[in-house]
Amino acid sequence: MREYTNGELTIVWKPKLCSHAGQCVKALPEVYDPKARPWITPDGASSEDLKSQIGLCPSGALSYYMNEDQ
Ligand code: SF4
Repeated sequence: MREYTNGELTIVWKPKLCSHAGQCVKALPEVYDPKARPWITPDGASSEDLKSQIGLCPSGALSYYMNEDQ
């Protein structure tokens, strides 16, 4: 499990669940770049856009939590 935060929201990525279908890359290429390290840069989109896109991940590899809830 890996975590990537923009300070407000934290994206949680579970590599074992990821089917590499690429829905995330298609939806928000400014955030998800499989060739970059780290491959997720949450600063590339608003937290609202991240939330709706994370809901589209078909495998459940992506989830998130709000930092203020921790
Ligand atoms: S949308 Fe989900 S399953 Fe598909 S590549 Fe992204 S993280 Fe992996």
